[in-house]
Amino acid sequence: MAISDEDIAKVRDATDFVAIASEHLQLSRVGNRYKGLCPFHSEKSPSFTLNPEKGLYYCFGCQAKGDVIRFVMELDHLDFAAAVERLATKAGITIRYDNEATGRDRKRREELRDTMERAVEWYHQQLLSSPAGGAARHYLKSRGYDGDAVRTFKLGWAPDGWDTLNKTLSIPSAIAKDTGLGILNSHGRMNDFFRARILFPIFDVSGQPIAFGGRKLPEADGPKYKNSSETLLYSKSRTLYGLNWAKKGIVEANEVIVCEGYTDVIAFHRAGMARAVATCGTALADEHFKMLKNFARRIVLAYDADSAGQNAAAKFYEWEKRFEIDLVVVSLPDGADPADLARTDPAALAEAVKTARPFLAFRIERVITNGDLKTPEGRGRVFEQAVEMIAEHPSPFVREQYLREVADQCRISESMMAQVLSDLADPRKAAALRAKARSNGERVGPKGRARDETATSGRPTTKKHETGGERAVSNEEELPPDDPSLGAVVKRPARLQPSGGRAGSPKTAASAATTRIVRAEEQLLTALIHHPESVIAYCVEGIFASPLHAQACALLLEVGDVAPAIDRSSEEPELEHLLQRLAVEQPAPDGLDLVGLVVRGAVARAVNVLRRSPEHPQSGAIPFLRAHEMLLTEPETRLGALDQLVPWFLTWGTSTTEKD
Ligand SMILES: [Zn+2]
Repeated sequence: MAISDEDIAKVRDATDFVAIASEHLQLSRVGNRYKGLCPFHSEKSPSFTLNPEKGLYYCFGCQAKGDVIRFVMELDHLDFAAAVERLATKAGITIRYDNEATGRDRKRREELRDTMERAVEWYHQQLLSSPAGGAARHYLKSRGYDGDAVRTFKLGWAPDGWDTLNKTLSIPSAIAKDTGLGILNSHGRMNDFFRARILFPIFDVSGQPIAFGGRKLPEADGPKYKNSSETLLYSKSRTLYGLNWAKKGIVEANEVIVCEGYTDVIAFHRAGMARAVATCGTALADEHFKMLKNFARRIVLAYDADSAGQNAAAKFYEWEKRFEIDLVVVSLPDGADPADLARTDPAALAEAVKTARPFLAFRIERVITNGDLKTPEGRGRVFEQAVEMIAEHPSPFVREQYLREVADQCRISESMMAQVLSDLADPRKAAALRAKARSNGERVGPKGRARDETATSGRPTTKKHETGGERAVSNEEELPPDDPSLGAVVKRPARLQPSGGRAGSPKTAASAATTRIVRAEEQLLTALIHHPESVIAYCVEGIFASPLHAQACALLLEVGDVAPAIDRSSEEPELEHLLQRLAVEQPAPDGLDLVGLVVRGAVARAVNVLRRSPEHPQSGAIPFLRAHEMLLTEPETRLGALDQLVPWFLTWGTSTTEKD
């Protein structure tokens, strides 16, 4: 290990796990635990549990678990050393490295970060006060940016010199290259990467600068935007511009606004909606949703989502389902972008966000608005196009609702609509419709944005028609092609009830008892972890039915606390997992009840074993066990019985108790 154990311990001690976790999810206190929606899987009721005292978390939904370092590793996609380093920086601790090479790598990141910070500040000062920044200041003012906005978003100006930044800050060329701040010219000289551009620094979620977006002035040559390429610090797919400023507002509103660029993000913030972010020159992708779903369930797309191409539809529905989010689309007046609207009519922008609609509704509405509902031909065309879009939605219930609405507006008869619904329920016909919708989309899809989308969505354009067929099959698995009559719709909710079947399945009394014992054993171990004084006298390996529980008990007794026990069990995933889970469980108030229950189970099993093997050296103990077992059931005699029974189990090997 590269970082000394001593430093790791120091970082753990100095870190406020609750504060760190709160940066990623909303926690609420329950007893001496914290609960929240798990950042590692999608859920609607909280199963992520954090025990601040032990410094451990566990999710009862997806079994994610560990300490604060693991938490940071998983959420920020860092390796161990980088996670420790990030926490150390927060806690103001300097890390020493055992291993030189790793130390150098860490030091490198630190140097890059340090240089980025200096560059942000320097560019910012150029914009605020340098004579050469005058044109940029003037331009920004004309776009409605005041000093406040410039300072809040740390906007900068890159002067039009070959190497003004690199020279002034004396940035070594290797660092200039690795931060993306410099670029080698054909003579091998390091030039500034950004020249004569207004800079939008891009920060990571914790507020560290990692990249820049550079916008040219209107009259200048070159592309409108020039952005940092990816570096050791900067990954586009894991970065959302503005998230560092927006995360608080997002959590408060349980809503995030996703827009197209830096200026839109800033416009939303300035219009009083401090919950906007933007992707950095890449299409929305899985990684973005993994980040966003930790903060909010409602994702508002504030750009022309339809122009992302028809292919986006399938992706959108998939994201909604997979991440359990609601994706809605803002309908902006023709030609307006959020930045314009924020300036001219902020109230209208707020209203547009409030009335954002599901993607399918948004698309159908557009077809209707652009269509001609006055003639039979016009109505027929609108209906046809709408049906193709509706065919893409995976849920038959949703499909039916939209179809009804459109059929109504297009004066389609009930029987005709029933025919369409039955076509949609036929996987082959539905696939053909979807393929048609997509090929239409290709034809009408605007300016190459559709191509961007497919490139990053990993669904190659050429294979579209085949995948249409494939998806019809997978739809069939999730949602069997129902006869689209009302009967089928009523039938389905019954099939969806998850507990219905299970509760009805016959369960033997024996297996119920086993379940109860297993649960009691877990609770007893939980008590042993959280208030050992009440139960430790009665915890011996021999009383546990489960070998795993026996092992956990032995280990806890040996090392004294759960954290070192988890460390010691790292070679045994099952044991480690159990301890990590119990470390965040709420212990039951009465430990002795549990001891009683567990020991009764142990007595019953021991008696069984002894009865089956009369030659067993301890077979004479059956009357003793039986007599004391009865005493266990009465609260007044329980303690005395335990005092007798538990020592007996000290000599009772756990291996003999397995078979039950
Ligand atoms: Zn989880």
